[in-house]
Amino acid sequence: VQFLTFSCIIISCVGGFCAISATTNKKAVIKADRAIELEQAHQALSAAYTDQETAHEKLEMIHKELEKAYIMIRMQALTDGLTGLPNHRAVMDQFSKELEKARRYHHPLSVLFFDVDRFKYVNDTYGHAAGDIVLCQIGERASSTLREGDTLGRFGGEEFVVLLPEADANEAITVAERIRATVAVEPVAAPEVAGGIAITVSIGLSTHLVDGDSEQALLSQADEAMYAAKRLGRNQVRTAEEARQMYASGTNTLLTR
Ligand code: GH3
Ligand code: MG
Ligand code: MG
Repeated sequence: VQFLTFSCIIISCVGGFCAISATTNKKAVIKADRAIELEQAHQALSAAYTDQETAHEKLEMIHKELEKAYIMIRMQALTDGLTGLPNHRAVMDQFSKELEKARRYHHPLSVLFFDVDRFKYVNDTYGHAAGDIVLCQIGERASSTLREGDTLGRFGGEEFVVLLPEADANEAITVAERIRATVAVEPVAAPEVAGGIAITVSIGLSTHLVDGDSEQALLSQADEAMYAAKRLGRNQVRTAEEARQMYASGTNTLLTR
């Protein structure tokens, strides 16, 4: 009986041990499976992060390229293709800003409008390409006489505008004379043109408040002054005030300054 009892206990213990052992093994297998699943999920997540980082870097590159393209297009839209100077639109944008400053701080502002003399003759005689060289050279020569803060732009065809912040009429006359003299100082070199092409400009000028308050008024006054300079013989500088006097007198009298 004792032996039987002992045997039963041993069998029960072995059975129990086997059952526990089977359960433990099963759990271990499940844990291993979970570990593999987790590892796989971790790898998938890492790969997704890497993809996301690559996509983000690509997007940043595209963004930078777009920014560069935008700046280029904007520059082109505001630059004259021939001379590299600010174009009509850029000059008008700058004019609004300068006028705003002049009004707010009660600072002077003058405008020059100049036109190449007998430019049609240059084209007809030396060709359009030579005419283009002359326009570029006029831009360079006029630029060389200006201060930082002044704006020289090609307004159209063979017409240029200069914005002179901080310049009253007298200072503007000095600048305009400097441009006129620098343009005329020596003929412009052009291929196959012996001795180069002699060139002059006629310049009109107007001053804020003296001749008008708006962009349009100041430009039209400077334009009138430029036409007065043409009528008086070209290659000279005339103010809007002088043009008014000339038109009022109804003659092409040469005015003394
Ligand atoms: P004025 O002294 O009265 O100003 O005489 P002008 O011959 O300069 O005046 P006109 O308006 O008759 O001639 C301007 C010429 O400018 C005509 C046009 O063909 C030329 N022109 C306009 N734009 C350009 C350009 O980009 N390149 C060249 N080569 N010529 C141009
Ligand atoms: Mg013209
Ligand atoms: Mg002309």
